[in-house]
Amino acid sequence: MTIDAHQHFWKYTPTEFGWIDDTMAVIRRDFLPADLERAIADARVEGVISVQARQSVLETAWLLELADQHDFIHGVVGWVALISRTVVDDIGSFAGSKLKGVRHVLQGEPDEYMSRPEFNNGLAELRYHDLAYDVLIVERQLPAATELVDQHPQQTFVLDHLAKPRIRANAISPWRENLREIARRENVFCKISGMVSEADYAAWTPNQLRPYVDVALEAFGPRRLMFGSDWPVCLVACGYRRWADLVREFISQLAPDEQRCILGETAERAYRL
Ligand SMILES: [Zn+2]
Repeated sequence: MTIDAHQHFWKYTPTEFGWIDDTMAVIRRDFLPADLERAIADARVEGVISVQARQSVLETAWLLELADQHDFIHGVVGWVALISRTVVDDIGSFAGSKLKGVRHVLQGEPDEYMSRPEFNNGLAELRYHDLAYDVLIVERQLPAATELVDQHPQQTFVLDHLAKPRIRANAISPWRENLREIARRENVFCKISGMVSEADYAAWTPNQLRPYVDVALEAFGPRRLMFGSDWPVCLVACGYRRWADLVREFISQLAPDEQRCILGETAERAYRL
């Protein structure tokens, strides 16, 4: 089964989605399951993981509601306040749901956030609920994220968007070295996603992206890599089907079972679908 390990739903409001600037105007609208169902069918994708876009438990509850209504949503990576004293109850309140992981948007936080005791205490709860933790950072935060991972050897981590290398600048180091380092931890998985929006929206090319995918393949191997679309954010630079086809092309030299890992089985394992 082909699974898209990373997409978002939202009802657009300018205040809640201030990060969608004028260059991204094409995604200033609602994106709901009916839109995605058409896109994935066209791209031969059968299931998705919905990822939080706002830091709100109300959004987490809403995503879980959508997941209950739509079988093609296999899991949700939601947000809970990990630094809260009520974190155990907050996570417990989602027991029995399709919640498969938690994400706090670390790319907007100073590096010190990752060493805060409250944050680490909250994160330490996740494994008791079989929840993965999605790491959303930019490449310069990789060393701090590696230290975070080292505090939680039993926790499953999923690195979003290859840790956002500086594709627009065609920069590969020190991202490459730092990615290899974090990948030495077997409890870290990684998503091939979010690349076109780190490149020039209009001028990117497949050949520009390929070296980054090759580094990730070598560092993590197919058993710890998963395909994700980052739909609808990808639409600023690339249609859903074009991105899915491109990932298939990038991994076409791998053995069929390795391709199946990246296109679905890794997500099933990392998120315990
Ligand atoms: Zn995303």
